Amino acid sequence: PSGSEPAAKIVINLERLQALPAEKAGPLARYAAAIQSQRGDYNGKVLSIRNEDLRSLAIIYDMTPGDLSEQLVEWGVLPPEARVARED
Ligand code: C2E
Ligand code: C2E
Ligand code: C2E
Repeated sequence: PSGSEPAAKIVINLERLQALPAEKAGPLARYAAAIQSQRGDYNGKVLSIRNEDLRSLAIIYDMTPGDLSEQLVEWGVLPPEARVARED
């Protein structure tokens, strides 16, 4: 591929995110809440975020973007299709 962006769209399952223990989900939950607040988007069950945001979150979690998306799939926060978003 010519670009550096993963193909899959990042769509966070907010219900699953809320159900996770805070020590795992904390940074992502705060990030998602900040985006909801900036958009005024409070009523969704899911939240689409920027690909770029996954890179920022990967730095916060001290993981590669690919490993973080894998982790989020394991937690049920991202759908399994998001696994193709590997690029390290
Ligand atoms: P989609 O992107 O596959 O999203 C499907 C549904 O998931 C949306 O239905 C909405 O209920 C939910 N959803 C996805 N992302 C978010 C989010 O960040 N916040 C919230 N609150 N809900 C979200 P909806 O709204 O009826 O939209 C249907 C389709 O219309 C979307 O399918 C997408 O293809 C298009 N669409 C809606 N809004 C936008 C937008 O802001 N930009 C673009 N490019 N497409 C949009
Ligand atoms: P902004 O980046 O200056 O974007 C201004 C407006 O452009 C957004 O207002 C939205 O209507 C539109 N927009 C920008 N990029 C996209 C995009 O990729 N898809 C769609 N569908 N629309 C886009 P909005 O939604 O009220 O957001 C206000 C501000 O909140 C944004 O200003 C940005 O600073 C922040 N923000 C919102 N969502 C995100 C996000 O997912 N990630 C990041 N990093 N910032 C976000
Ligand atoms: P989307 O709205 O379908 O946008 C798909 C891609 O088109 C975005 O991927 C981005 O690369 C590009 N794009 C769309 N609108 C803009 C824009 O105003 N400015 C720029 N520079 N690029 C734009 P990306 O960034 O990975 O975002 C994925 C999805 O996250 C978006 O899908 C949208 O559902 C959501 N999103 C991202 N930023 C915002 C935002 O500021 N406000 C809202 N409401 N949704 C956003």
